[in-house]
Amino acid sequence: MILMSACLAGIDCKYNGGNNEIPQLKALYEKGEAVLVCPEVMGGLPTPRLSSEIQGNRVYNTAGEDVTAYFVKGAEESLRIARQNGCTLAVLKANSPSCGAGQVYDGTFSHTKIQGDGIFAALCRKEGITCLTELEYLERMDKKL
Ligand code: SF4
Repeated sequence: MILMSACLAGIDCKYNGGNNEIPQLKALYEKGEAVLVCPEVMGGLPTPRLSSEIQGNRVYNTAGEDVTAYFVKGAEESLRIARQNGCTLAVLKANSPSCGAGQVYDGTFSHTKIQGDGIFAALCRKEGITCLTELEYLERMDKKL
């Protein structure tokens, strides 16, 4: 079972109330091959919500509020679901402060990306779950065709 960022399967859980649907990934979910998590919603944040970025080891929204506790709680809840479903691979939305794997925004809200993982992606890696962005996963799917 693949662990997947819910917004990639078309769930409207993105900070602005929208989603990041990718038809091939939604299809995997509909075939029962993926389980969905949205760490930010599962941590108790509403949708829509202010966007957030990681600064050091904390997470702040655009109003300057420290929302780290929501992100940590949501990451832990999402990991619990991953474990329940025996997931060893996560397909996670790129650049998100929760789900970003390998690259995130730099905390200045200036669309500048830096190397690093979102709070949930970092926890997944620590727990031995392989993390791929949606583009990395799609590239792998293409190579198999
Ligand atoms: S926290 Fe992850 S699943 Fe939820 S909207 Fe952001 S990128 Fe998508």
